Amino acid sequence: MADDTHTGDAPAIPAAHAWCAWHGGYSDTARLISAEETVANGRGSRFACDPCRAAHGLVPVADQPRSEVDAT
Ligand SMILES: [Zn+2]
Repeated sequence: MADDTHTGDAPAIPAAHAWCAWHGGYSDTARLISAEETVANGRGSRFACDPCRAAHGLVPVADQPRSEVDAT
C-alpha cells in the first residue's frame, strides 16, 4: 500500500488572509479598500481588516455603491 498522498505545497495562509495596511498585520477579514480611501497613505488600493474598517469608516470596494449609475 504505497498510497502516499501528495498534498504538494499547499499555502499555509488561506486566500482570505490579506495584509491590513491600517494596523500593519495579516487578517482574515481584510477587504480591498479603494485607492480613493487609501490616498492619504500615499499608495494605491490596500486592504483593511474588519476592526480597522469600522474604526476608520472604510468601505470595501465590493461594497461601494456604483457611483456611475447614481444619477437619480
Ligand atoms: Zn486592521
